[in-house]
Amino acid sequence: MGQTLTEKILAKHAGKPSVRAGDNIWVSVDILMTHDVCGPGTIGVFKENFGPAARVWDPERVIIIPDHYIFTADKMAHRNIDILRAFVREQGIKYYYDPDFIQGEGMPSPYKDPTQTSYKGVCHKTLPEEGHVRPGEILLGTDSHTCTAGAFGQFATGIGNTDAGFVLGTGKLWLKVPPTMKFVFHGQIPPYLTAKDLILAVIGRISVSGATYKAMHFTGEGIASLTLEDRMTLTNMAIEAGGKNGVCDVDEKTLRYVKARSNRARWEVFTDDADAKFDAVHAWDLAHLEPLVAKPHSPDNIETARNCQGTRIDRAYLGSCTGGKITDMIFAAAVLNGRQVSVPTFVVPGSTEVHADMLRLNIRGETRANGEKSVMDVLKDAGCTIGPSGCAACLGGPADTFGRLNQPMACISTTNRNFPGRMGHRDAGVYLASPLTVAASAVTGRVTDPRDYISAPIPTGTAGVV
Ligand code: SF4
Repeated sequence: MGQTLTEKILAKHAGKPSVRAGDNIWVSVDILMTHDVCGPGTIGVFKENFGPAARVWDPERVIIIPDHYIFTADKMAHRNIDILRAFVREQGIKYYYDPDFIQGEGMPSPYKDPTQTSYKGVCHKTLPEEGHVRPGEILLGTDSHTCTAGAFGQFATGIGNTDAGFVLGTGKLWLKVPPTMKFVFHGQIPPYLTAKDLILAVIGRISVSGATYKAMHFTGEGIASLTLEDRMTLTNMAIEAGGKNGVCDVDEKTLRYVKARSNRARWEVFTDDADAKFDAVHAWDLAHLEPLVAKPHSPDNIETARNCQGTRIDRAYLGSCTGGKITDMIFAAAVLNGRQVSVPTFVVPGSTEVHADMLRLNIRGETRANGEKSVMDVLKDAGCTIGPSGCAACLGGPADTFGRLNQPMACISTTNRNFPGRMGHRDAGVYLASPLTVAASAVTGRVTDPRDYISAPIPTGTAGVV
């Protein structure tokens, strides 16, 4: 019997000719990523179990990306950065993206120029930008949305601090091979949909536990028609259905990006065998899919945007690893160009590179000409408030976090979770939606179907291509 794409990656890293769903195997890890929230705990586990003088298994394969609690005066958040800095110095970690503007106490002043800081922003956006994702590899991270990197045809999953401490010391992990569910999208992506609608359709159908410990493989010509960045939105939210990992097929878009960015020259592309066995197969025709919203307080509480029309919102939020990519910003700008938001609308670039691209590109995703408006100009002119890159209010954070929901209110957001308290106040209600739906709703102050504003394809040009 044949193997799935995920089984083949795991078999290779276990040094076996084949594995089956349910097998328990030792795998060699290509990359371990941690950040400011889980890094200190992971380091603590590592030191406690391997000894105070222990060395990490490979300082070039441990990637540390502070991103969660950055623009805050919170002393504990700053202490975490200090712990990471000391560990990086001690271990000679090669890839560490320091928030160099955090010096001393109080609220740090954000970087002045997004191209002139070692800080990057959200880890899942930074990993591919900085060349740390490749097809066929295993990437583990101390963050549940590490599955995002599966968009590049690799096995990527989140692990806890204890497992990560073990990986730090050994470069290996004991894993159970997940069975694979296939999600097939037929047709081309219509102009009024983004990958956010597709993943909400999946979660709405199978529920937040429908893919528990399973590989979620997104495929079909509909996925091929998505930008690479939009595929990252799909795999990012695999964990919202309980998935062990999310993965997409590798194509020319993937190879072009990885060839341009990867800091290692060799990788291997895997595909399903023709006789591979799947746990389940679900299919959609994109011509019949409508813009969707996940209502409070669960990502599987799905309704069409049209059926939510009229639901009042107090705030809109564009950002996070799910919806803070440059193509997400272009989608929002396509709706907001020449219009005004009617509710406070907070925009957080997913990375400093996204921030720089918002200044560099026009709303067609091309380098803007002299005098032409940038994506940033369009969003600012529409009345949006733009913050520095990072996780910001996606997970609430300290009370002084940009865009945090500090009162009970209704917010429509491009983020990935809407459990009570996720974005701040536990009585706030969060509606998860695509950047198109969020932008359309920001204009009207009510949940709004983006088909009221978008009918023609939105060009994204060079944005996020390499
Ligand atoms: S942006 Fe949100 S979901 Fe993504 S890593 Fe940060 S807190 Fe997690």
